[in-house]
Amino acid sequence: VGITIAIDGPSGSGKSTVSRETARRNGLAYLDTGAMYRAATWWVMHEGVDLNDEEAVIESVKKLPVTVPVDPDDQTQICAGEDITEIIRTAELSAVVSTISSYYPVRDILISLQRDIIDAELEADSYSGGKGIVVEGRDITTVVKPDADVRILLIASEEARLARRAKEISGKVDEETIEKTRDIVSRRDRVDSAVTKFMTASDGVHTIDSSSMSIDEVVEAVEDLMRR
Ligand code: C5P
Repeated sequence: VGITIAIDGPSGSGKSTVSRETARRNGLAYLDTGAMYRAATWWVMHEGVDLNDEEAVIESVKKLPVTVPVDPDDQTQICAGEDITEIIRTAELSAVVSTISSYYPVRDILISLQRDIIDAELEADSYSGGKGIVVEGRDITTVVKPDADVRILLIASEEARLARRAKEISGKVDEETIEKTRDIVSRRDRVDSAVTKFMTASDGVHTIDSSSMSIDEVVEAVEDLMRR
């Protein structure tokens, strides 16, 4: 059985880049749980279901026909035969993911899928030869895999997070984009943290503040924890 590394954190903390890079360098699988909430949102909307109708959303997510990628070098997301890799990253979709991720029965369905994927990866000689998996999200260290070998909460100052998100969204870091990003990011974090309490590290979770660290430095800090 391989190693499990759980990384939680808000958007803009560098979580995705760091998780993917850690997986790549160590020959591990990589699971982006945020992408699963995004894919579920796309699917529910594709089905014509009203996102505010909790019961209908739950029924729809039960039938989610998603193929979840675990190769850090190929994160192509396929849902209902369609390549949704790019569409799930749009601002329009990002703005509504929190609506469905705040429904606990929806979370239960996705959490159980996530645990199956993790278990399969740890046992299998599939992608990484069962060496292990890096899993990132908001509730991995606390709910999905509280018994992970390494548990990390990756944080960053609001300033650093906004600058990274602004650059991601529009390729530039000027005052106007920062202000626009501030509204989007703070609304999403407020809703998300009410649901998953992800901003508080629970016992045994290592907090890494990436505000003034490079990606390489953060990956090295994660690798240090893996060797302990
Ligand atoms: O990490 P990412 O920004 O792609 O996540 C998109 C959304 O999915 C988050 O804003 C949150 O609402 C939801 N999410 C969650 N639990 C996770 C991962 C993501 O609720 N473990």
